[in-house]
Amino acid sequence: MSEATERKDLQAAGNMKAVMGKYFTELMRGPEAGRKTAWCTSVGPAELLRALGFNVYFPENHGAMLGATRMATDLIPVANARGFSPDICSYLTSDIGSHLKGESPFHKMKMPGPPKADVLVFNTNQCRDVKDWFQFYARQWSVPCLGIHTARSIGEVGESIVEDVARQTEALVEPLEEVAGTKLDVDRLREVMDLSRQCTVLWKAVLATAATVPSPFTFFDGTIHMGPAVVLRGHQDAVDYYEVLLAELTQRVADGVAAVEGEAHRIYWEGMPIWGKLRDLSTQFMELKTCVVASTYCNSWVFEALDPADPFRSMARAYSSIFICRSDREKEAYIEEMARTFKIDGILYHDAKTCPNNSNNRYGMPQRLREKLDLPYLVVHGDLNDLRLYSEEQTRTSIEAFAEQLGEAG
Ligand code: SF4
Repeated sequence: MSEATERKDLQAAGNMKAVMGKYFTELMRGPEAGRKTAWCTSVGPAELLRALGFNVYFPENHGAMLGATRMATDLIPVANARGFSPDICSYLTSDIGSHLKGESPFHKMKMPGPPKADVLVFNTNQCRDVKDWFQFYARQWSVPCLGIHTARSIGEVGESIVEDVARQTEALVEPLEEVAGTKLDVDRLREVMDLSRQCTVLWKAVLATAATVPSPFTFFDGTIHMGPAVVLRGHQDAVDYYEVLLAELTQRVADGVAAVEGEAHRIYWEGMPIWGKLRDLSTQFMELKTCVVASTYCNSWVFEALDPADPFRSMARAYSSIFICRSDREKEAYIEEMARTFKIDGILYHDAKTCPNNSNNRYGMPQRLREKLDLPYLVVHGDLNDLRLYSEEQTRTSIEAFAEQLGEAG
């Protein structure tokens, strides 16, 4: 690999390993430290759980680890044999396969494996699969599974939606207090929300540095550095981490450092990452002097509506405003804005076969946006975790042709 195609790792990555290592260690030691564990969906009510003193565990993070280590390939069939279809979420099938087979990337980190839940809390704002996923474990361990049911394809996030979700979130408090063995302290909730809000502001600022030409940061960097925003929002460690990362990126911008040497094209990644192929894809884009500067995925952990002064209603608004649960009209307006802000030359849609919720190419959106924005697009067929659904050769060739097309357009 030549110097020009080598990924320029950020120094903050060292801090991140330490921050994530500490988080995982505390998680595993929860029971002996007298802490209860709550499993939470990635856009579930993490702030409420943290304020109640739970250690909060996000199984989607484990799903991504199973994908990135490619362990998912052997584990998905184990869940399939238990009746979980190969067509449903491959985070779910790889995670349940991991549980049934007793194999996890945590073992390679000399850790015992995902912590057993005392309670599981979902929000269907992202999909129904998370509820089925959590109910599997609730049955296994005979523990409560609680949740929030959010409307899908939301246009404007109006009062009735905010009221409904806030009411459902408040209804979780009593059963959660019972599991936690403590009462909710609203001042503590406000503190946690304040930290979550700070994390959001910093993470957004980190992603915004990629609007600079050349960009100091890529989508592939984002998939690594988003870890604390996902699992540690509401915790001081995430805030501290993003302050350091933002300072490093600001310096890169000042020094004119390009994440992709000789950046010639800038594209937007719409849809899930292909976890088992991140390094290969990152290298190919480097070789093509194409920077994936922004994505829906990394921006999904920006929750601007969070407001400590109005905890339940603002959580409801924030978690009902995420891209995945919005109508196509809202999604298109969002991508349009992103394309302008990040000076995009083209859009790549990942059609993830086991996640229709994050595959936005299936109902004519690419064609509509091409007309509006006059930008070329490419659809890549694959999956987040199930590499049996991904063709390396076909993807390589179509990305190459897409970069060529961008070159001609430019
Ligand atoms: S949104 Fe997609 S990837 Fe995420 S849990 Fe749901 S089905 Fe799985």
